[in-house]
Amino acid sequence: MPELPEVETIRRQLAPLVEGRTLQRVSILDGRWSRPLAPGELADALQGRTVERLGRRGKYLVWSLSDDVHLAQHLRMTGTVLCDPEPEPSHVRVRIELDGGSRLTIVDPRRFGTGELLLGGEALDAFFDARLGLEPLDERFTVEHLRTLARGRTAPIKAFLLDQRRVAGIGNIYADEALYRARIHPLRAAGRVSAEQHVRLHEAVIWALRAGIEARGATIDDFRHVDGVWGSFQNRFQVHRREGEPCPRCGTTIVKLVAAGRGTYVCEACQRPPRGTRVGRAGSGRRS
Ligand SMILES: [Zn+2]
Repeated sequence: MPELPEVETIRRQLAPLVEGRTLQRVSILDGRWSRPLAPGELADALQGRTVERLGRRGKYLVWSLSDDVHLAQHLRMTGTVLCDPEPEPSHVRVRIELDGGSRLTIVDPRRFGTGELLLGGEALDAFFDARLGLEPLDERFTVEHLRTLARGRTAPIKAFLLDQRRVAGIGNIYADEALYRARIHPLRAAGRVSAEQHVRLHEAVIWALRAGIEARGATIDDFRHVDGVWGSFQNRFQVHRREGEPCPRCGTTIVKLVAAGRGTYVCEACQRPPRGTRVGRAGSGRRS
């Protein structure tokens, strides 16, 4: 699933192509994308409006159009936005024609992606307030903020990081990489992360997301840039998807386990398991 760095990569590539342009014609080919609105209703609300700003909040692309109309687009598992793809790709869900002749194509093989219409800035704020915590690259995201959020939480720290209502935009890749860098085991209870570990985790989260953006995202499934090119952060993974390989720091074999219901990659020499945890290897599925 595209996470914060992948969505930010798309935003940075797409913004100069769409800002100031008018959405001349919007064709929504899949009713799941526009729900609860019918495809025609959503298309009518968007068509003829100018894109004032393309923003991002967590893993959402936020299209802010003229007359205070907004579209919160989520790519979910396999969504991609392509500009003038040639030839026409398969699994097209939405086509947008811009004034000046460019055409955007939203491709989504698994069809979990969505576009939600929000009328007015207040509706937009309420939508995100109900769903997302702070942006981890915002200066308000401090060590103290992270520690306050985690206080008393019994959920594993990995589940805590994946919860979009706590911190927005982190998914499976960047959680694994940040926890490895901070030398914290993913199954440690969030409320039992020490003050010192919080300092490291805060630094590691920001570092991982920035490194991901710098590499223009990671491609492990379908993620592609607006021009169809792949991201390269997957080449810089330290532990994620590196089961059986030596830890870059200490040489211990990286293992795969399940945390927060997700395949999770760990060096158990660098990231000491919490006491009383029976940690299972890949496939055992014990504990999450
Ligand atoms: Zn190690």
